[in-house]
Amino acid sequence: MPPVTDPTDDVVARLEALKAEVERSACCQLGATRSRLVFGEGDPHADLMFVGEAPGYHEDQQGRPFVGQAGKLLEQLLAGIGLTRERVFIANVLKCRPPNNRDPLPAEVAACEPHLWRQIELIKPRVICSLGNHATKLLSGQPHGITKVHGKPQLVRLGERQVHLYPIFHPAAALYTPSMLETLEHDFARLPEVLAMPLPGDDDEPAAGATASPEAKRSAALATSSAPAAPLAPAAPQDLADPAGAVESRSDGEPAPGPTEQLGLF
Ligand code: URA
Repeated sequence: MPPVTDPTDDVVARLEALKAEVERSACCQLGATRSRLVFGEGDPHADLMFVGEAPGYHEDQQGRPFVGQAGKLLEQLLAGIGLTRERVFIANVLKCRPPNNRDPLPAEVAACEPHLWRQIELIKPRVICSLGNHATKLLSGQPHGITKVHGKPQLVRLGERQVHLYPIFHPAAALYTPSMLETLEHDFARLPEVLAMPLPGDDDEPAAGATASPEAKRSAALATSSAPAAPLAPAAPQDLADPAGAVESRSDGEPAPGPTEQLGLF
């Protein structure tokens, strides 16, 4: 069930307005092939936001993020830390499904990312959990892949605020690889610690050095410097070979894409 929200809430209204705007805009070619826009959903005031890659088959059919097998795993992981999907906000880098679940193209990410920055600006999460490679690279502004940076919180400035970015493996990838599932469970179990970590802007929002315009915010987000946050112990060392070729499909119950259609979940 989609979460119930108070329509008189300003953030709810502004998110709805943003959704309507994105729905109308033909910002990239994917608008022509999607069934439904997958804007994202959850608690508009969530401290914790998840950012996945792009809608898959089921998400495209239902217009909701993470409703297939990967979504079930995400819900199980959330239950393990006492949360439900209604208490977090779940979005994606791309709001429309790429055909055959292929990787997002750079031009598609560039066209869609302003919507994500505006969602983050409205929701004001303390922690953003990036799921897999695409979300992690976009939000960190760094080229490092998920295998290297998973489980290590980074302080990043996104527009006027700083947030803890916490990259973890994409649940769809973990569905197919037991060692990755173990790592994902381990990283996920540390989310409450990350949520409890202080943010530099806690006492004096907006944080010093804030940028103003949406474009400046976007540039700031991309150019952001990331520094590992101290309080957590280093993640357990992993020795994961890049198993991209072993993952059949990001979407749930969809025919497996060929190698060239593999999503960059790692
Ligand atoms: N994978 C994603 O990255 N996003 C979804 O919404 C579903 C699967």
